[in-house]
Amino acid sequence: MKYISTRGQTAPKSFSQALMAGLADDGGLLLPQSYPHIDAFTLHDWRSLSYAELALQIISLFATDIPKADLQTIISKTYTADVFGSDEITPLRTLHDGVNIQALSNGPTLAFKDMAMQLLGNLFEYVLGRENRYLNIIGATSGDTGSAAEYALRGKDRVNVFMLSPFGKMSDFQRAQMYSLQDGNIFNIAIKGMFDDCQDIVKALQNDHAFKANYHLSTVNSINWGRIVAQVVYYFKGYFAATNSNEQKVSFCVPSGNFGNVLAGHIARSMGLPIHRLIVATNENDVLNEFFNTGHYRPRDAAHTFVTSSPSMDISKASNFERFVYDLLDHDGAKVQQLWQQVATGSGFDLSPLLDKIHNQYGFAAGKSTHTDRLHTIAQVYAEDGELIDPHTADGVKVARQLREAGEIIVCLETAQPAKFAQTIHEAVGDNVKIPRPDNLVGLEDLPQRVTIIDNDAAAVREFIEAQLK
Ligand SMILES: *Cc1c(COP(=O)(O)O)cnc(C)c1O
Repeated sequence: MKYISTRGQTAPKSFSQALMAGLADDGGLLLPQSYPHIDAFTLHDWRSLSYAELALQIISLFATDIPKADLQTIISKTYTADVFGSDEITPLRTLHDGVNIQALSNGPTLAFKDMAMQLLGNLFEYVLGRENRYLNIIGATSGDTGSAAEYALRGKDRVNVFMLSPFGKMSDFQRAQMYSLQDGNIFNIAIKGMFDDCQDIVKALQNDHAFKANYHLSTVNSINWGRIVAQVVYYFKGYFAATNSNEQKVSFCVPSGNFGNVLAGHIARSMGLPIHRLIVATNENDVLNEFFNTGHYRPRDAAHTFVTSSPSMDISKASNFERFVYDLLDHDGAKVQQLWQQVATGSGFDLSPLLDKIHNQYGFAAGKSTHTDRLHTIAQVYAEDGELIDPHTADGVKVARQLREAGEIIVCLETAQPAKFAQTIHEAVGDNVKIPRPDNLVGLEDLPQRVTIIDNDAAAVREFIEAQLK
């Protein structure tokens, strides 16, 4: 299987090349030339597979330049009960009103990014070893992505991680999660500034071409194809868990920010998984809600992006959305390029003539949830089902309940555990409610922390990196 760009201007790449590349050379995103189709017999056979077995079947269709035996080794050490808390890996449960919740949040950092990032860490190590290469990952984080990357790459050969975070701006839990890592290849850098400053420094260092080449700099952001493909697996797993026959259809409701999670659902559906609807749930940053309801895409700049209580969805330019639009436009790379030129100049685009196709052929729907909705849903689920859900998952449950059709089987994807967002949980259910935490994370905040504080200055960060790599 070969990978091409959404803008149609790059030579086809192998899976490993797509894995190690960031953006395509023409500025587009890499995706396979076509999606594999799963026939009814195969789908029948897959129903009884374990998570790791299913992952091997699905990922081997995409990672065709990695021998299947090697892939099996990589996948079976990734998706274990040890790492993800149970043999089911993404267990499904049902609320009293019949809405299902599939937990994607039982990995080491308690958020769904682990589902893909843990695999990516092992794939990176394998490909770097095979090609005798080294890599220095540099990133900026306001919480979830950076910690998932660090836990995926800690202790790995041939790769270091330099992760910038805003000094004093993360929750105690998030800070402890990252800064307590003592692995020699993980470098936490607290910048005296905001998250945007961290991002600017990363961009400046990426654009320092001599530095980038000398030090083999790379990133692990949400457009990485390896992350998307890993996420396809849990849609199949969730489908099988919510049904007892492949005659049934399931709808997924997905708390969305960069459109990476729900894009994997779109791919699973395109492969033939019987998905009825893909319901995109947004928070107050509702660019995607608007698009899927009206066909107008109007991305906003940072100044018009709200800080909300479901912070991992505070995104107004969904980076993975371009891959869906490429499919929607029947793989017209020139048209995609033109639309994203419009986006770059600050205007959006209008695909309202395609709304029928978006809804009926691709099954998309969307809804929005606000801070009030979030608190209400957390409190409601706590009162009626006796359990806590995190604010992002609450956005999904709110939208699922609002849009659910009679008889529709809905699976809401649980993207984080409540322990990560204690403040909002307490606001919803009161300060006296104890928020459960996995045993191995009790006392996390008391562990010694390892972090270097640096001024908001790209040159100072570059010097620090150079000094570590001497
Ligand atoms: C990243 C994240 C999301 C958004 O996922 P996208 O792939 O960016 O749409 C939702 N919830 C949580 C908890 C996250 O960490």
